[in-house]
Amino acid sequence: MKFKSGDRWKSSKSELKYRTWRKNVFELNKRKVGLSKWYVCMKCKLKRKTTRILHAHHIKSWEKFPKQRYNKTNGVVMCKKCHYKFHRKYGYEALEKPELLNEYLGG
Ligand SMILES: [Zn+2]
Repeated sequence: MKFKSGDRWKSSKSELKYRTWRKNVFELNKRKVGLSKWYVCMKCKLKRKTTRILHAHHIKSWEKFPKQRYNKTNGVVMCKKCHYKFHRKYGYEALEKPELLNEYLGG
């Protein structure tokens, strides 16, 4: 993992909360896109039946918006490639400015 996940898990309880959040984000993604069988990357529209190469990205960053960490509407599904590209493109700026994501997804 590239995104400083190292000290993220202070307890198995928070890991469980994270897993639940992730699952909810994916469920929401399915329903939002309206394809009951597919998860969709919100950037390149890649479709997959499993979440294996898909990531749940925090719209408002984990680091800067602790209260939004487990809010399922604070998540967006992207494939691994688009997720990495986003972080490469915006770097630390993305942590401070959630609106950069809209720019990225819209562009
Ligand atoms: Zn993608």
